[in-house]
Amino acid sequence: MSEYVAKLIIIGSGPAGYSAGIYAARAGLEPIIISGFEIGGQLTMTASVENFPGFIEPVSGTDLMEKMRTQALNFGVQIINDRVTEVDLSARPFVLSTENGNCCKTQSLIVATGASAKWLNIKTEKQYIGKGISTCATCDGFFYKNQPVAIVGGGNSAAIEALYLTRFAGKVYLIHRRDALRADSILQQRLLQNPKIEIVWNSVIEEFIGGQNITGIKIKNVLTDERKTLDISGVFLAIGHTPNTELFKKYLTLDDDGYILTKPKSTATNIEGVFAAGDVQDNAFRQAVIAVGSGAMAAIEAGRFLAAQDN
Ligand code: NDP
Repeated sequence: MSEYVAKLIIIGSGPAGYSAGIYAARAGLEPIIISGFEIGGQLTMTASVENFPGFIEPVSGTDLMEKMRTQALNFGVQIINDRVTEVDLSARPFVLSTENGNCCKTQSLIVATGASAKWLNIKTEKQYIGKGISTCATCDGFFYKNQPVAIVGGGNSAAIEALYLTRFAGKVYLIHRRDALRADSILQQRLLQNPKIEIVWNSVIEEFIGGQNITGIKIKNVLTDERKTLDISGVFLAIGHTPNTELFKKYLTLDDDGYILTKPKSTATNIEGVFAAGDVQDNAFRQAVIAVGSGAMAAIEAGRFLAAQDN
């Protein structure tokens, strides 16, 4: 059990958190990252990343995050492998308590806790994450050239990702648990007009099947109980995300979906000295490269804030 006193603490070890750490350390802010227990964040579930600029060869999500971590450590970022369980943002220094009993006091804070994709939580799902199950069509759609894939969900994300997948996949099954989509009507029209897309209404996945990788899904029609197997090579889940903002909702202004609201062209929140970076404040793009940019912004803004306090 230790007490840490810092100028800047960053919560989260995804692309936003590490990028913020690297920028802040190089600016002399001596940042501490509290990594959480899912070190590296969501990207560590992606088998291969091909669209991160600078990496000519594909890099695994885990390797990419390990490189960011090493880069942060090389610049002197202190990384504590612990999870923040409580925050008090009512006055500066802000006070954080952690699962391992540590207490941290900081003059400024960057929240980079990300968002968690929702999972179906059915048997065999975990086994195929990164081996046919993905929560990001933009990241992984490219790997399914001319192959049949399925996407689950009926919202805007599912519709946009289904349309995106038709650029690569030979066939896209959109599996939805009801008989109506909640996606915008213009997207619904595009889905219905696209010859590669087949909407499978009133249906849920009961089981993923395959060997090393997925080769099919067992689905059930919830109205008729009819069951069938679809041969597919990949399944994309687009059933929503949950921003990891539970800890902060007492203090920070959130939007209707629970994401932290930041000022335009800024990572500043409603509390002076508290900044939010990455997916925790981004309900629209959810890309590592964007999170990296927003982490850098937050570090620069934290630096300016701290400098203004010193004057
Ligand atoms: P949504 O919450 O809008 O949709 C989730 C979909 O997944 C729903 O159709 C829901 O079904 C289905 N679903 C949820 N849980 C399960 C489950 N366990 N099993 C099967 N199906 C399930 O999430 P989105 O990510 O699509 O969108 C989030 C927000 O972001 C929305 O406000 C959306 O409009 C916005 N957005 C905007 C975009 C834009 O470009 N403007 C792009 C993407 C998102 P049901 O309908 O039955 O509840």
